[in-house]
Amino acid sequence: MKITGIEVLQISVPLIHKYTLSRVIGSKEKTECILLKMSTDEGIVGLGEADPHVPFTEESVESITSCILKYLAPVLIGQDPEDIAGINSLVDKAVKLNLMAKGAIDMACYDIVGKSKGQAVHDFLGGLQRQSIPLVWSVGNELPPKTLEDVKTVYDQGYRTVMIKTGHFDPDTDIERIRLVRESWPDLKIIVDVNQGWDVKTAIAAGRMMESLNIEFFEQPVPYWDIEGLARIRKAISIPLSVDESLLNIHDAHRIIREGAADIFSVKVSKNGGITRTKELIRLAEENGMRCWMNSMLEEGITQAASLQLGLSSSSLLDMGHAYFSPLRLAEDISTYSDNIRNVEIYPFEKPGLGVDLKEDVVEKFLVGKYHY
Ligand SMILES: [Mg+2]
Repeated sequence: MKITGIEVLQISVPLIHKYTLSRVIGSKEKTECILLKMSTDEGIVGLGEADPHVPFTEESVESITSCILKYLAPVLIGQDPEDIAGINSLVDKAVKLNLMAKGAIDMACYDIVGKSKGQAVHDFLGGLQRQSIPLVWSVGNELPPKTLEDVKTVYDQGYRTVMIKTGHFDPDTDIERIRLVRESWPDLKIIVDVNQGWDVKTAIAAGRMMESLNIEFFEQPVPYWDIEGLARIRKAISIPLSVDESLLNIHDAHRIIREGAADIFSVKVSKNGGITRTKELIRLAEENGMRCWMNSMLEEGITQAASLQLGLSSSSLLDMGHAYFSPLRLAEDISTYSDNIRNVEIYPFEKPGLGVDLKEDVVEKFLVGKYHY
């Protein structure tokens, strides 16, 4: 089989509610994403997606579009999409980093291989390790009364894992928010994500205040570059520590492990460069006795489906909700992904490949730009 064309669609879908992260990242009111359609000479079309979030990511919709059109597509035309290792080697030679752009290519190749074999991607990633995965919900930075209201809404829907975004207000307000949630719902699994909003001293002080609140883990309290700071925090508090913004590629993963900077890898298939590269991170975590949490950016259904294929076939996931809820935040799902969410769990797709289709009329509605190579 040969790759014959690559189409890049820029999409932007409004969120139902504004979503406020830390002071470092800011607020979001819509997604910015890339859909990729990889055509082949056998008529199979593979779907990929990239989900930049400036300034969380250094990549943007514009940089991903130009990376794919100018540097990746020219080396991919005529290549065999079923040789995924070969494709990843080619794109790595073509440009440095640019993980989200490469991730969209990798996802599309997996989709093509699955469609060609007539198998779901999880079948050739190691098979189903579980029949479904419970969902987490993520609550943005809001004052204590609104935080309680937001958690109540999703708890009543059946969610039993909630990520609470912090790092926007002062740490005392954040501690109060977490304390009120813990007191109101003793059985709720709580993740505290700071999105780089604190410094080491603040993180240690706030972490100690939260040690009695039964927190599952603390994510990315300090800036992404401060691996040494993460290691100091990890030594100083008893709450497990997760890395998100600090964990992009395999070199980051090796350094984090070497410096003892985390207990948990927060992996995201688009952020980490596709299924192949994310699977390597999961394998490395397993080899080092660490656990993984399947996280997401603000994603549409293609990345979510790619992440699901990987999550379903991984044995080292934390026993809690994972981030397979992203399209539920959006005005509309541009794909068939959400159809497989039932009772706050996501179930495997039966269709071959990534298992999801685009709803072309909905894609058209939210289309911002369209390019073809
Ligand atoms: Mg995070």
